[in-house]
Amino acid sequence: MDTLFALARQVAGDILSQKSKGAASEAAAKMIALAEDVIGQFEHRHGLEDPVACGPGCAYCCHYQVVMTAPEVFLVGRHVRQHFTATKTQALFRRIDRYLALRDGKDVFEVARVLHDTPCVFLKDDRCAVYPVRPLVCRAWHAMDRDACRTDFESAVPDPEVEGYTHRHYVYKTVARGLEAAVKEIGCQAGAYGMAGAMKTYFSHPAPETAWINGEPVFDGGPIAFCALPLEVT
Ligand code: SF4
Repeated sequence: MDTLFALARQVAGDILSQKSKGAASEAAAKMIALAEDVIGQFEHRHGLEDPVACGPGCAYCCHYQVVMTAPEVFLVGRHVRQHFTATKTQALFRRIDRYLALRDGKDVFEVARVLHDTPCVFLKDDRCAVYPVRPLVCRAWHAMDRDACRTDFESAVPDPEVEGYTHRHYVYKTVARGLEAAVKEIGCQAGAYGMAGAMKTYFSHPAPETAWINGEPVFDGGPIAFCALPLEVT
């Protein structure tokens, strides 16, 4: 078995099996730290052939569907509760409703038509409002050529293929798979959820993280229009 997958599953499983109040958020945070650590060490040792073009204010990729595991939903939701003001939270709710009204249940071509007008609900002035806790898929998405991202975005390509480093994709995807495997093992609702719909569910539920860790189904599964890192758990 893949060593990183096994490690992620073990670490996440140890945290989740405690079934404590914040276990899901903690497991997600731990997975993010693990992935960042593995990539940091690898890149420190081997360097990068070409520099990564991503940086503050560049947010083309933040217009594509973000798909996340349940623990990541709780980590982001918790961050919003702790750090957003009431005004900022109300503005977020309005963006979520608008996003879902324009995208929910639409096929990839219909979504592509509104791509420019429906950024991620956390994108504000081309910056991520939940940057410290952004999902694994956001961390995996990177590029060496900003012009290629701009061209795909301006053409509203439904599913862009941007050149990136294999090791980064591998690490984030493998850690996400390990987390998802641990979720299944402890009998909690597993799946990959679109950011806006998952946030809507999170804030509509009186105690989503507690219900989920106790094995209750919290999320509606639904078709995902764009999925950069499919979570096939083996
Ligand atoms: S969560 Fe942040 S990084 Fe991810 S798509 Fe949204 S704005 Fe971009």
